[in-house]
Amino acid sequence: MKTNIILMGPPGAGKGTLAKRLISKYHIPHISTGDMFRDAIKAGTELGKTAKDYMTRGDLVPDEVTIGIVRERLAQDDCGHGYLLDGFPRTLKQAEALKELTTSLKREVNLVINIDANQAELIKRISGRRVCKNCGAPYHVTNMPPKKEGICDQCGGPLFQRPDDNEAALKVRLSHYYADTKPLLNYYEAMHVLSNVNGMLGADEVLNLASKLIGEVK
Ligand code: AMP
Repeated sequence: MKTNIILMGPPGAGKGTLAKRLISKYHIPHISTGDMFRDAIKAGTELGKTAKDYMTRGDLVPDEVTIGIVRERLAQDDCGHGYLLDGFPRTLKQAEALKELTTSLKREVNLVINIDANQAELIKRISGRRVCKNCGAPYHVTNMPPKKEGICDQCGGPLFQRPDDNEAALKVRLSHYYADTKPLLNYYEAMHVLSNVNGMLGADEVLNLASKLIGEVK
């Protein structure tokens, strides 16, 4: 059975960490709109120029732009054997566009994993988060530190703090999450594809629970 998954949850819940572990276990494409925008900014493309200011403020990139990049990516051949959407959809308009798109491609979403944690924990995780500049591997200064400070265990690249992982941008990101994204849980619950995983648990336990859900997809 191919698994077409959406990973949902507020910033800091552990989506990125879980996504990295799931793709290395299940070998399905990881479609992270945040990563796509960050890559575009690094490459200096038009898409990157459009996304940059929204991202720095913690605001959502406009729906037309975001839906456009997902439409292109999901239509590619490698997504025919399953995919993992991470950070998309974030608005009802995106969810509706995704429904239309996946129906026409016959690649309907069959599992939405919602991973959540309380606000104090989200803030703690985001403020201590570090990311490898080369390979994107996630770390945390106290919860998941690298073996050597400031250096990625996997590729030796330098670790940095995302420019939107600051207090002001996080406030905006959380407010978008609660106003625009969290209501989508009802949308997916009504479609009978929603499952919840407690993001307060450790990363190994979260992976085990998510793997169990994937194993149960019919
Ligand atoms: P993330 O890496 O998922 O935390 O996303 C980082 C930032 O990229 C977000 O705060 C938004 O500015 C932008 N972004 C990522 N995905 C979306 C989306 N589905 N819709 C709008 N903006 C997005």
